Amino acid sequence: MSGANPVLARQSQPSRAEALVAQMTLEEKVALVTGYFPAYSPKARAMGAAPSAGFVPGIERLGIPSQRATDASLGVSNVKEMRKGDTATALPAALATAASFSPELAFESGAMIGAEARSKGFNILLAGGVNLTRDPWAGRNFEYLGEDPVLSGRLAGASISGVQSNHIVSTVKHLVLNAQETGRMVSDARIAPEALRESDLLAFEIAIETGRPGSVMCSYNKINGFYACENPDLINGVLKGDMAYPGWVMSDWGAVHSTEASALAGLDQESGLELDKLLNGRVFFGENLHEAVAAGRVPVPRLDDMVRRVLVGMIDAGALDDTAAAGPVDVVANAQVAQRVAEAGTVLLRNEEHALPLPTTLKNVVIIGGHADVGVLSGGGSSQVRSTGGVPVELELTSGDAAMIARTTWHASSPLKAISKRLSRARVTYSDGADPAAAASAAAQADVAIVFAVQWRSEGVDLETLNLPDNQDALIEAVARANPRTVVVLETGGAVLMPWAHRAPAILAAWYPGQGGGEAIARILFGEVNPSGRLPLTFPRSADHAPRPEPAGIDQVRAARASGQPAVKLASFPIHYNEGANVGYRWYEMAGHKPLFPFGFGLSYTRFAYSRLELSQHGPPTASLSVSNTGDRAGADVVQVYVQAADGEERTTWRLAGFKRVELEPGETRRIEIQLEPRAYKRWDSSSRRWVANPGELPVAIGRSAEDLVIKSSWAVAP
Ligand code: BGC
Repeated sequence: MSGANPVLARQSQPSRAEALVAQMTLEEKVALVTGYFPAYSPKARAMGAAPSAGFVPGIERLGIPSQRATDASLGVSNVKEMRKGDTATALPAALATAASFSPELAFESGAMIGAEARSKGFNILLAGGVNLTRDPWAGRNFEYLGEDPVLSGRLAGASISGVQSNHIVSTVKHLVLNAQETGRMVSDARIAPEALRESDLLAFEIAIETGRPGSVMCSYNKINGFYACENPDLINGVLKGDMAYPGWVMSDWGAVHSTEASALAGLDQESGLELDKLLNGRVFFGENLHEAVAAGRVPVPRLDDMVRRVLVGMIDAGALDDTAAAGPVDVVANAQVAQRVAEAGTVLLRNEEHALPLPTTLKNVVIIGGHADVGVLSGGGSSQVRSTGGVPVELELTSGDAAMIARTTWHASSPLKAISKRLSRARVTYSDGADPAAAASAAAQADVAIVFAVQWRSEGVDLETLNLPDNQDALIEAVARANPRTVVVLETGGAVLMPWAHRAPAILAAWYPGQGGGEAIARILFGEVNPSGRLPLTFPRSADHAPRPEPAGIDQVRAARASGQPAVKLASFPIHYNEGANVGYRWYEMAGHKPLFPFGFGLSYTRFAYSRLELSQHGPPTASLSVSNTGDRAGADVVQVYVQAADGEERTTWRLAGFKRVELEPGETRRIEIQLEPRAYKRWDSSSRRWVANPGELPVAIGRSAEDLVIKSSWAVAP
């Protein structure tokens, strides 16, 4: 097949899997591709499944272990504490990993989650979320890696490799364009096939090549008229055809709508059958697949292929052979991993007049809002971890689609305590921020006011405003007016508007910083750690600068709410992704909207300079340059390479083609090499099903962000 990926084609072990398939009965084959949802399945629990997301019984006589699946995007999840008392290490939001621009940290955190999952008896992790952030208000943005396919793909791949280094399977999910929560089960994403290949599918392609996940999870939504899990162009055409993906495709929970159409389009396993039954009226694999195969509507070779793919995914990851029980985990070491990600992924957005770092000689500090006295906020939904430190605040939702799968939860890592520890001679007080006037008068007395502003996001619901909720804009405005030394620490699951930005001399984006968040924030505030995170997504200046100012389908939600029905099944509606492959920063550049803070942006307590750029296309395309730390503190920089491509006569917008995080001592200069991703400047040609480069001299630039390009050059791109 032209365009087939040689790396993936080499990887699989089909003959061993085939030999196993040849020994199975029809019943055994069907059972291996039909998954339970143990949290809601007494039957699965009677077969020994722990309450979690997934279970498929094994076949003992053939040495095939049961598939025990858990969600694991940000740690081993335990949604609504379905397993009483079962805690795990809670990483920050995936956006923090993305902001670190560090494949090494992504690998390490994946390896950490995998080790914990394995020690709890799980061997399939529903991890590897790589959907691109197309809309700043989307509910699950915190679970993903931002808006760029090269950054997202490389980091997701590294994290998947880390998980699978424990000889268990990771998924990559959700294939594809599951970019909003509103109507996620009925929406129909409309996009040109080439644009999709060059954006969201490119993120999947890179993640799959780098991480070799045993399984791919298809999403809830439709793409160009077909549900993802029964979309032949997507699964058979692109994933298994063009990308030569050898593992298995499992459905998202409640995402199957047919037996034959799904099986023939390439779906290999139905997950969470109880949810399909509840939401879509029946179980589509199980007995119905058995019947369809017996009647010849699904050919036996297709069923064999489904089973073979499940086995190939498990064999390649090591999950079929290495089934020994894992020993206890080192929770202290794992907590350090979570904290390191928070430290590397926190982004310093503003620092006027060296407001930060704070001196430890301060006498009077007030901490305001965000429950910062007891903890840090976490995002909600299937990724929710019950963290080892405990849950100091937990709010039950009373209505809406997220209520089924989420509570609003804080991890017990108190910024107040971590800050107080560093100010032994100061008076440090806390104001909950509910009353802006009271907070402002406390701030007026203090040397420094630190406001913790929170924005909760969750699977199942999109934001209806990009402004901070609950009057926090007014709170910050009042505090910053009362005290010119106001520091704002944002705990958000993505972009937020900041009408008060000009008043706050220092702003930190800490995302949801995970179970070590309080300590990580304090270390950055006091300069024990030099901030080095860079934005993995754009913070727009205004909500109407986004490609879609609000979720498609929100009108149906509002109408239902107005008529007193808070949760309602929406009718299918299209979402027009007219920006095509120009996702995120490329859209803002194309539309001429200057962002509040651009993609790739982040400040440091030191300074970096770049020189002597050289470009090479002998072997993989590479940029080499010298990076110097010209300040007086050690720190990490993220060097970014942007390219333009030729699009007919026109140039495209700038695109990230490569990046490198580099740690430098003060005064140190280092020569670095950055491997560039050729598909960032190539285009997908649908007729030949190949990536092609338009010939010509193409611009290349080294950037501090997508907006701040400091060295520009060009090269003649090899075809
Ligand atoms: C989510 C998936 C998750 C699955 C199982 C779905 O609702 O979209 O990300 O893996 O549930 O919990």
